[in-house]
Amino acid sequence: MHDLTQCVHHPSVPHDGFASLSVATYRASTIVFDSAESYAERHQRGLTGYSYGLYGTPTSRTLEAQITRLHGGAGTALLPSGQAAITGIMLSILRPGDRVLIPSSVYPPVLAFCQNYLAELGIEHSVYDPLCGSGIEPLLDAKTKLVWVESPGSTSLEVQDLPAIAAAAHQAGALVGCDNTWASPLICKPLALGADFVVEALTKYAGGHSDLLLGSVTAADDASDTNLKAWLRTMGIGVSPDDCSLALRGIETMGVRLAHVGRIALDIARKLSHSPAVQRILHPALPHHPGHTVFMRDFKASSGLFSVELKPQVSPFLHQSLKRLRCFAIGASWGGTHSLLAPITLAARNGAATSSSQSYLRISIGLEDPDDLWDDLNTIFHQLERELQEPSVNTTIA
Ligand SMILES: *Cc1c(COP(=O)(O)O)cnc(C)c1O
Repeated sequence: MHDLTQCVHHPSVPHDGFASLSVATYRASTIVFDSAESYAERHQRGLTGYSYGLYGTPTSRTLEAQITRLHGGAGTALLPSGQAAITGIMLSILRPGDRVLIPSSVYPPVLAFCQNYLAELGIEHSVYDPLCGSGIEPLLDAKTKLVWVESPGSTSLEVQDLPAIAAAAHQAGALVGCDNTWASPLICKPLALGADFVVEALTKYAGGHSDLLLGSVTAADDASDTNLKAWLRTMGIGVSPDDCSLALRGIETMGVRLAHVGRIALDIARKLSHSPAVQRILHPALPHHPGHTVFMRDFKASSGLFSVELKPQVSPFLHQSLKRLRCFAIGASWGGTHSLLAPITLAARNGAATSSSQSYLRISIGLEDPDDLWDDLNTIFHQLERELQEPSVNTTIA
């Protein structure tokens, strides 16, 4: 063959005797067939076979199988982000006239999705108190198709009684989906607690290095898994094998990373609880936290994310104090090796742990030396405490 043809057709080399501990990254749009007949019959390969790159490669299938196994589910679908996983599962099962219930502590872009997109499709949503437990029953009418749970909830970290909510929802004929991103499958297994679907933002602890975006939906039964996968094929939604490979690598170290950041985060949360600048520490492992009893029952350990509610008097000085950070970075997303701080303001929420429009500092613990992290926080909180003792004159607004 001529050079140009040889450039396109790779030489084959033996694979015999080669074995690696890592999963190969298979990149493909085209899948080739060994005959015209098998190409003509490619649709018979179904959802589990290989027929087109968009529908999966051995790399993405390995990640799907890994998450399915960790959650004890029937199957897993991968989507380009955690948010896409949530909107994907909702769009694939909700129809005009249906209603979805979401907790007030939900990841804020999910509420925006319900308000700005589901509503105009004729799909209603109602916001419920994350701590209601079986008290969700009066909200469940014949239209309610899905009850969404996120536990612990974003920023305020209320822990939901998933078994009680799932029992009431199933009684009323509704499905239950749970966003398990805070915990990962190593700390909580929502399918065993009654959920029909569990979503992970793999972007966080599975990725573990703040450099990829990926989401998963694991279904408890085959029919639900097949339904979502068929929907994804039709919508043309697939994921990159490179991202899957990074997530598979991340999952290998997720256990030791989580054990470490969980321990350090709880230690720092306890220490910060003594600061006079702190109104409240929002960490589910602390005894007074909303849902703590449920947390002790349903979760194996703590992860590395918690929030600090600041005293209203010090809130105006938070941004200024963060200029003194040396170790923590300021940013959203979390679960990586770098520790992050995110100043967050939450409006008053019905039934949630928050009391009023309040300033929070969300803290994600990473893998730096805990002494350096504590030095940073100590600097900030001492500065905030000084504002309590001798408030700056020009900012004391009547
Ligand atoms: C980050 C996050 C998401 C969204 O994940 P992305 O991959 O960033 O889209 C969803 N739910 C929770 C609880 C999250 O923290």
